[in-house]
Amino acid sequence: MKRREILKSLTILPLAGSMTAAAAPLENILSAAVPAAKRDLFAELGIRTFINAAGNYTVMSGSLMPPDVMDAINAASKKFALVDDVQEKVGAKIAEMCHAEAAMVTAGCWSALMLGMAGVLTGMDTKRVSQVPNLAGTGMKTEVILQKSHSMGYDHALTQAGVKLIKVETRAELEAAINENTAMLWFLNREVHKGQIKHAEWLELGKKYNLPTMIDIAADVPPVENLWKFNDMGFDLVVISGGKAMRGPQSSGILMGKKKYVAAALLSNNPRGGIGRGQKVNKEEVLGMYAALHRFINLDHQKEWQMWETKIALIANAIKSIDGVKTETFIPPTDNNMPTLKVTWDPNKIKLSNTEMGDRLRQGNPSVEVISWEAPNSLRCGMHVLEAGEEKIVAARLKEELIKASVKS
Ligand SMILES: *Cc1c(COP(=O)(O)O)cnc(C)c1O
Repeated sequence: MKRREILKSLTILPLAGSMTAAAAPLENILSAAVPAAKRDLFAELGIRTFINAAGNYTVMSGSLMPPDVMDAINAASKKFALVDDVQEKVGAKIAEMCHAEAAMVTAGCWSALMLGMAGVLTGMDTKRVSQVPNLAGTGMKTEVILQKSHSMGYDHALTQAGVKLIKVETRAELEAAINENTAMLWFLNREVHKGQIKHAEWLELGKKYNLPTMIDIAADVPPVENLWKFNDMGFDLVVISGGKAMRGPQSSGILMGKKKYVAAALLSNNPRGGIGRGQKVNKEEVLGMYAALHRFINLDHQKEWQMWETKIALIANAIKSIDGVKTETFIPPTDNNMPTLKVTWDPNKIKLSNTEMGDRLRQGNPSVEVISWEAPNSLRCGMHVLEAGEEKIVAARLKEELIKASVKS
């Protein structure tokens, strides 16, 4: 998978900062006496930081939490509360905001997938909760049906609750696969264009066979309406990441939908000892997620979109007159549905592979990450993860490297 390549290219880097840290032990000792908030631990420890012109990649630490979110987290860190109380009150608010019967904050969308699955399997039976993921001989159902094209790695989260994945392509195959062990029909919104069966038919099949349906919309806001669209449509469970475009804690997500499943999922979660115990979310993540959701819903999304377009124009204008360079705006259709800048170059005029380009931007000062692993002689830049003014640096660095690699005519 592509993700593995990103990981590889990110880890083989020389860590420029680490040399400074090693060369200045006295400074380290002195800085240890300064209160933590004043310290730059990244610099101190030699951790490379970078301008993110790529996107909300888990490997690149996701997103930056805005002040609203950090305020909620800091305030939450100063008082004790019962975790169940926090989940209950926040869950009720999130449910209301997203048109669901119930909601809970999970440790990322991955955990929402696993816990939602567990809730479907166990219901409110605590004996069953203690048996997951060892389903054999318990009377719990054991199979989940999904479309082959929707199997992109994230379905693995469901198997952590003990189920087997049954992958089908056609409606006829799906209907033939349903049996007394079928627990749920699972849908990955990101791949809706690839699968033969779309939302409405998926829901119709769920109704016909009296099976719960779950949809994964992890990275599929904006548009903001997606937060409630799939609850309105009738999916029994909807799961989404908190730390992607919503900019909540990177370790947060939401499980929402029918009350009977969310209530059951909470039984498998911390503070109890079910399969979710190792994916603890505390008051800081839960309230941080809530603040992020609140902020995101109330954002001026049209203004955000215009700002991204302005940034794209600035970068494109800086480089498009370079001989052999082409720029265009690309908007992914479902996940990360936001304008990105696509830069393509003629390999006869600019002698630089896409991965070399990625490496040079990464090794520059400041270090810049772009999406450099998708196609030869091209890269993409995500705008929604850039901090104010950083587009100018990205423009200057791209220009510099493209000109440096240009063949003199
Ligand atoms: C990112 C993602 C996940 C996992 O979400 P986390 O919040 O990182 O746990 C699940 N499904 C899809 C489709 C994703 O893009």
